[in-house]
Amino acid sequence: MSYSLQHIANIIQSETKPADDRMVQYLLTDSRKLLFPDATLFFSIIGPRRDGHTFIAELYNRGLRSFVVAASFQEAASYPDASFLVVKNVLQALQDLAAFHRSQFHIPVIGITGSNGKTIVKEWLYQLLQSDHQIVRSPRSYNSQIGVPLSIWQLQSIHTLAIFEAGISEIGEMAALQQIIRPNIGIWTNLGAAHNEGFSNEREKALEKAKLFKDADLLIFYRDGIQPHCYPDTNDRALFKDTIRFFSWSRSEAADLQIINEQITDHETVITALYQQQKEQITIPFTDRISIDNAITCWATMLAQGYQSERIQQRMLLLQPVDMRMQLKKAVNNCYLLNDSYSNDIASLELALDFLVQQAGHNKMTVILSDILQTGIPDEQLYQMVLEKLNRRGVKRFIGIGPALSRYFNTLPAGTTQTQSGIPMISYYTSTADFLERESLNQFKDEYILLKGARVFSFERISQWLEQKVHQTVMEVNLTAMIHNLKAYQQFLKPTTKLMAMVKAFSYGSGSAEVARVLQFHKIDYLAVAYADEGVELRKAGISLPIMVMNVDEAGFDAMIQYDLEPEIYSFNIYRSFHSFLKNQGIREYPVHIKFNTGMNRLGFEIREADELAKELKQKGTMVVKSVLSHLAGSENPSLDAFTAQQVQAFLSACDQLNSQLNYSFIRHIANSAGIFRHPSYQFDMVRLGIGLYGVDSADTHQFALQPVATLKSTIAQIRTVAAGETVGYNRNGGVQQESRIATIRIGYADGYSRRFGNGIGQVIVRGQRAPVIGNVCMDMTMIDVTQIPGVMEGDEVEIFGKQLPIQELAKAAGTIPYEIMTSVSQRVKRVYVEE
Ligand SMILES: *Cc1c(COP(=O)(O)O)cnc(C)c1O
Repeated sequence: MSYSLQHIANIIQSETKPADDRMVQYLLTDSRKLLFPDATLFFSIIGPRRDGHTFIAELYNRGLRSFVVAASFQEAASYPDASFLVVKNVLQALQDLAAFHRSQFHIPVIGITGSNGKTIVKEWLYQLLQSDHQIVRSPRSYNSQIGVPLSIWQLQSIHTLAIFEAGISEIGEMAALQQIIRPNIGIWTNLGAAHNEGFSNEREKALEKAKLFKDADLLIFYRDGIQPHCYPDTNDRALFKDTIRFFSWSRSEAADLQIINEQITDHETVITALYQQQKEQITIPFTDRISIDNAITCWATMLAQGYQSERIQQRMLLLQPVDMRMQLKKAVNNCYLLNDSYSNDIASLELALDFLVQQAGHNKMTVILSDILQTGIPDEQLYQMVLEKLNRRGVKRFIGIGPALSRYFNTLPAGTTQTQSGIPMISYYTSTADFLERESLNQFKDEYILLKGARVFSFERISQWLEQKVHQTVMEVNLTAMIHNLKAYQQFLKPTTKLMAMVKAFSYGSGSAEVARVLQFHKIDYLAVAYADEGVELRKAGISLPIMVMNVDEAGFDAMIQYDLEPEIYSFNIYRSFHSFLKNQGIREYPVHIKFNTGMNRLGFEIREADELAKELKQKGTMVVKSVLSHLAGSENPSLDAFTAQQVQAFLSACDQLNSQLNYSFIRHIANSAGIFRHPSYQFDMVRLGIGLYGVDSADTHQFALQPVATLKSTIAQIRTVAAGETVGYNRNGGVQQESRIATIRIGYADGYSRRFGNGIGQVIVRGQRAPVIGNVCMDMTMIDVTQIPGVMEGDEVEIFGKQLPIQELAKAAGTIPYEIMTSVSQRVKRVYVEE
């Protein structure tokens, strides 16, 4: 979509006129995503921790000239040829522009809200309705105050139906989203307990959510998913238009669509309901409760739109699982594979490319792409645009698969493909089979490969081919959850407090480089590792953030300097030997971190040594103190709060002593994860976030919802029936009381599944239920009792820990702490990175 800058200035009521009247095609809120500076308008949004105005200089240097700024921005004069549109509130301006854009369209717009299921319902409606409509929808879960306007901006004249989701976390937000989306068809999936923080009670939350449907002509909702005192059709009539039509579904009471039977088999569910006094039935290829609920919501939507039963039935049978997650895995020849072959459209391609760029660092990037179907854009224009988007992001190799892409390349004059697109290597194939037949694995080496294809192209065949198939136990690391946790902690920080992330021990087992890249992308301030080797590995992976190394010795000095790592200096011994080393090398003012012992009695100078240390540091000048730190022994434990306070007092006195000698300032930090919000006044200049980042609340405060980051999964290799009186495993420890079904899973103590979990101490999740470990844990395998769980089959997935079985619970059962469980998962277990 494009508007002239002048037009936009009018729409958002800018107090200033633009310097030129260029056409604006792209709206930017995240400076990292700039691709087309000539046609982009940047909104300098002021967030809780980041102020968009601070990125203006950088964006200007990269060629951008059009900015929306707040009146407080005073530096316009330093950028002579740029346009600054000055507004009262930059976010509001973005929303106003989106609302204006929305008002240009007179097509059905579906707005979805609810505590769960928004994204699935949106994606399924897309699947169900795409043969009748040219649909625009929110990419992934772009449902926030910023995400919704950016979604709306995608609306173009070719579209005949729009589906947007709206998510809110506090009062007042929905009215803004309603103004932008203005749905004429509303869907309210449910009203669960999630995101309750911003509301004083359920009714308040319901009233807020209902605001989305203010101008709707039709509202579809799930009665049982909403408490009776919140029913929109009986309680909240005044919120809606007089003419609104309600369409509800329920399992338990009268409703437009009343479910009377659900028959679940191995692979599918047959759902029967009463609709207009008739029995109606659909069959869906899913068996879990959540999918069934979402499918019924879609069913209700189609009925309310007047779709015939037969057509609904046919399409429901074809519903595809929605896996919105992108997976990054190791592949052949030291490649990484980013597998996002669930769908292929421009918006999701862009999100996948952003993730690819973030993870690839300096490595070569390759994109394998299928035809993009049903965009409504002529092929020539479409693929030229796609190639340009890839080229702007530095993609070096493009492999196109499908008849349309082949046709596109074939019609270009010979030899012009590369030069036109700027991408050095381009090849194309008519089908996935054609590609697999003609390409060889050796052609892929040391590169980051994005695999993105519409479902009909069966790109899973390519992913299997490119992946190293190793043993089936994997640890899934959810990077989206990690960022959620990072933000949850950041909310507790003063805006000026810096954040150091602890990525020691392979990032608590989660994988160093991959985690560090995400953190670097999100602009944290520091990383810390335990040993020099770990820091070297991060540098080799292209991490440029400052890195503190906590435990250095003389053997590591060389590497420290070569790789620009900053040691923690914790004793006079290490201080003096590092000093001599620096002196020999002729290095002055090398950045270091000084650690004091305040009661942990592990590493650190004593407080009484501070004065002498300060004098030496000042006099010798080989090192410059970047920060001063200490470590709390019991920040998570309320009964140790007095001791914690003592530690902090000692730490501050050491800082003061250094401060009085050194004539420069340094960063002071003492709080770890539990300290950050149990002791907010101890945040000082920086905090060190460790286990909380990985989703474990070590203080067990339950004050804010962390999301588990790691999921350890395996599969069932064999199932047998064992008769009463027999035993299972080594030493005949696992006695069988009655005839039992015993499954052998592909994980053992060599993978990090401790022997302590043997003989009923540990449990795993199979088909959503718990199965106890029977007998001793073996080196590579473990036996579990699945007698009580119906339908278990060989090959079934087993969760060892994750969402369904928290690490904390395993730790408790084994008499240890989550830290040990997480860091014990061996390197043999493949890590798979997912981004949602
Ligand atoms: C590991 C470590 C941390 C992080 O601790 P968490 O409890 O995981 O937050 C902080 N500081 C030091 C010195 C550490 O060794």
